[in-house]
Amino acid sequence: MKNKNLCMICGGSAKEGHTTLTVDNGERLVVLRNIPAMVCTNCGEEWIANDTAIRVEESISATKSQKSQVEILAF
Ligand SMILES: [Zn+2]
Repeated sequence: MKNKNLCMICGGSAKEGHTTLTVDNGERLVVLRNIPAMVCTNCGEEWIANDTAIRVEESISATKSQKSQVEILAF
């Protein structure tokens, strides 16, 4: 992917790190921890690659059959 190491907010350089995402899909709150992400060393903006985002979506939809209101998943 082009320019994946450049921050879209400030243009600063980013390094690989991890982030935590919290998603409310209407049925429950899903917290995904330890997601591989790019982190801007200048402004702290975090973002994830497209293929990672697809895996995040899959992880969230995989919780659908469960009855709990909160799911905390290690990615
Ligand atoms: Zn930045």
